[in-house]
Amino acid sequence: MSEPLVIVGNGMAAARLVDELAKTSLGRYAIAVIGEEPRLAYNRVLLSSVLAGETASHDIELRPAAWWRDRGVTVKYGCRVSEIDVGRGELKVAGDESVEFSKLVLATGSTPLRLNVPGSELAGVHTFRDSRDVDLLLSLAARKKPVVVVGGGLLGLEAAYGLAKAGTPVTLLHLMDRLMERQLDPAAAELLKILVERKGIKVLLNANTARIHGETRVEGVELADGRRIEAEAVVFAAGIRPNTALAREAGISVNRGVMVDDHLKTSASNIFALGECAEHRGTCYGLVEPAYEQAGVLARHLSKRAAAYQGSVVATNLKVSGVSVFSAGDFMGSDGSECILLSDVRRGTYKKLVLSEGRLTGAVLIGETADALWYLEMIRTRKTVAGIRKEMMFGRSLALAREAA
Ligand SMILES: Cc1cc2nc3c(=O)[nH]c(=O)nc-3n(C[C@H](O)[C@H](O)[C@H](O)COP(=O)(O)OP(=O)(O)OC[C@H]3O[C@@H](n4cnc5c(N)ncnc54)[C@H](O)[C@@H]3O)c2cc1C
Repeated sequence: MSEPLVIVGNGMAAARLVDELAKTSLGRYAIAVIGEEPRLAYNRVLLSSVLAGETASHDIELRPAAWWRDRGVTVKYGCRVSEIDVGRGELKVAGDESVEFSKLVLATGSTPLRLNVPGSELAGVHTFRDSRDVDLLLSLAARKKPVVVVGGGLLGLEAAYGLAKAGTPVTLLHLMDRLMERQLDPAAAELLKILVERKGIKVLLNANTARIHGETRVEGVELADGRRIEAEAVVFAAGIRPNTALAREAGISVNRGVMVDDHLKTSASNIFALGECAEHRGTCYGLVEPAYEQAGVLARHLSKRAAAYQGSVVATNLKVSGVSVFSAGDFMGSDGSECILLSDVRRGTYKKLVLSEGRLTGAVLIGETADALWYLEMIRTRKTVAGIRKEMMFGRSLALAREAA
């Protein structure tokens, strides 16, 4: 008889895990996926395109209902799991239904942080995480009233872009002195700011949100230096916190995320975690690629094949506010490294390659990112680049022609 395997959370990591399990161990497990959101798993990354009016919400579903059915997977959506009884191998689903498991996988993702400032609970304060948030932001955009977005990382920029594209006056506040400081060096961040401002978004750096004004609804935002920005709504996009409460309350070890070993196993022997809720070797990843790599490893482990997750080399390769951005590896350039630079602000292009001991160790690209995966491959494989050093800045085809010559 098939072993009952339950996955809590029906997001991107869960969907990929089922996909991988269907390939490696169809029939071994009776899989049930229980998710809180009221719809089938969808591509969360594409919420930005939905907000920007470039994609319809129903087009971002990862797999149609028939796909789950054909693989014998039971999907319960709109159901929150409220408790895990580790000893009995049982879950409580809101409404008091019990579900038994032999193996359990936590794929509960993260929750957006709301800044702990006065006014953060007022009506008109939003976050940007799921389709419900996007529906609310779209109705906000339709009003075309001024909005403040707090957070100059990927999510804040995407929220600002979507709202501005719909004609909303947007001010983006960022606490740090440059946008996307965890992915971009100062010159790249400055160019991104210029390109984002060209799209009609007002960007304020070193902007520390001190309070949100309003009686019952948002009326404005005050910064720590006294500046005040008029706004009818605020969108918090200033970080995420892994969803760990279920695990913590069940006595499973939790640090920032649910702690897992190289087999994605938690401190409970039959319980695993992956995706944004998991912490592996001290790292909680906030990106899709590591979640997918973890899903591959966990599926192999659950089908009794040798597999170990060693961590992921993360890269940023995306369109931010309509601008192509790539960054990977040692993009700042550590001691002893050298940089090759190309910058053309008018054309909106910036390229920085970081080399160390004859190898490419980091890269930042703004504007033209067609060769991003080629650079990433060189960073990952630590290939020596002495033979193509002169050409590599100008792209793959020129460098490969040189190599072949
Ligand atoms: C707007 C946006 C744009 C993004 N863009 C990018 C990008 O360009 N590149 C990139 O790499 N990453 C991007 N990300 C991040 C990426 O979406 C996440 O890394 C990815 O979705 C993580 O997958 P996950 O399955 O761990 O979590 P999620 O996809 O969040 O899924 C977790 C699911 O678990 C459910 N859940 C939680 N608790 C319970 C419970 N107790 N019971 C039942 N269900 C529960 C949640 O409702 C949720 O549906 C973006 C995120 C957002 C919001």
